Amino acid sequence: MKNLKYKVAKFGGTSMATAETILKVKNIILSEKQRKVVVVSAPGKQTKGDTKITDLILAGEYEKVKARFNLITKELGIKKINPFRKSQSLNHSVSRGEYFAAKVLSQLLGYEFVDAKTLFVYRNNAWHASKSGFHRIKQLLENGRGVVVPGFYGRCANGKVKTFDRGGSDITGAMLAFYLELPTYEVFTDVDGVYDKDFKVYDKLTYEQMEKIVSTGAEVLHPAAIKYAKKSNITTIIKNTFNPKTRGTHLTV
Ligand code: ASP
Repeated sequence: MKNLKYKVAKFGGTSMATAETILKVKNIILSEKQRKVVVVSAPGKQTKGDTKITDLILAGEYEKVKARFNLITKELGIKKINPFRKSQSLNHSVSRGEYFAAKVLSQLLGYEFVDAKTLFVYRNNAWHASKSGFHRIKQLLENGRGVVVPGFYGRCANGKVKTFDRGGSDITGAMLAFYLELPTYEVFTDVDGVYDKDFKVYDKLTYEQMEKIVSTGAEVLHPAAIKYAKKSNITTIIKNTFNPKTRGTHLTV
């Protein structure tokens, strides 16, 4: 029996792009008490010509990353996060966009920050759930706490941070729903759902249909996220942060 008390809500880069959009995220989360497991991407583009935080880090533009986060925390009136430092491995640096985004949102919501490296371990060429990490997250939920988890990474067996593929925050959310046995996974993005060729939003799709759509290059949901959701019979709902009242597209087996 799946746990109906909570659901996973993942917010993509455009939802986390500015203080203003992060406040929308906050309102969405607080508008439903089931939204207790939150996953975030790194801040994305603020405007069309802008660069995503992850791409800024990959380009070594650490000062710009720092400035973006400083602006966000200042405008939100919350504690400044640790200044971004150039860290040891590229994997570690690249994961900091999600890490700091989760720090910001957890502060804003009063939810617990749970580092993704305590939850997901890469061993024998595959990702696994850490027993102790999931034990802790379950306890937090049982105690009535909400949690914010940075997407896009976990750790290797040696403890070092390892990132997923690009777009991998989707996978983090699907893995959380899978291992916590939660029936609903909401993916908040900047469109009303999955569009058909006539630009109409699908009300529902099967995972098989969705697999076909993403295989044509549509970046709506990472293929690995679909696999997890399909395997455990989760309903994935693609919704719009900027139009949250719309139903979105519901994906089921
Ligand atoms: N921030 C990462 C990327 O740009 C992961 C994600 O957004 O899901 O690919």
